[in-house]
Amino acid sequence: MNIVLFGPPAAGKGTQAKIITKERGLLQLSTGDMLRAAKSSGSELGKKVAGIMDRGDLVSDEIVIALIEEQLDTHKDAPGFIFDGFPRTVAQAEALDKSLSSRGMAVDAVIRLCVDDAVLVDRIENRFKEEGRKDDNPESFKIRLGNYNEQTAPLLPFYEAQGKLSEVDGLASIEAVSASVAKVLNELSVSGGGNKPSFWKRLFGRS
Ligand code: AMP
Repeated sequence: MNIVLFGPPAAGKGTQAKIITKERGLLQLSTGDMLRAAKSSGSELGKKVAGIMDRGDLVSDEIVIALIEEQLDTHKDAPGFIFDGFPRTVAQAEALDKSLSSRGMAVDAVIRLCVDDAVLVDRIENRFKEEGRKDDNPESFKIRLGNYNEQTAPLLPFYEAQGKLSEVDGLASIEAVSASVAKVLNELSVSGGGNKPSFWKRLFGRS
């Protein structure tokens, strides 16, 4: 089963991905984590992306697609993947479909964590104080949110048209969000995890 966790920065994708990993053994593939690791290792890739990330901009499609393909090949035995923070552009979503299909897989479900911008700004202020991530500063965060709205949100109709989109209320408690996510995944398991029609859409939560 391959899941895309979808939502703006700070919507709780990483937190939910970790819970799914713990409960179902799916492998979390977070391009943000991979890029941060490259940055802190001081590798060529890290040096190349550091400024872009700190500003809050998106790194190139080529870079993140290559990172994902490398992981798909490294973890051939994984029971499935949770894509966290990827895809973020239509080109990335198309590349993901292609990469998965060439390996005999597909995206089975896209779960959107619905949150509103004001809450995100509060959350990120706290995270900035606690973790000090450079790209959580107010200016970078504004750019990240803008990039989400302009480049990533257009993926919603892309996945909706494929009948893969489910929405959950991302403003609820971590436990409640995870229960809603689990419900989507359980129904998907029962149905065989295939490409179901838009029956899934808005099954849970708000839009
Ligand atoms: P995240 O932790 O997912 O919010 O990612 C942190 C930063 O890494 C983003 O603001 C981008 O600069 C970069 N990044 C992560 N994933 C992607 C992606 N799929 N496409 C482009 N840039 C990305």
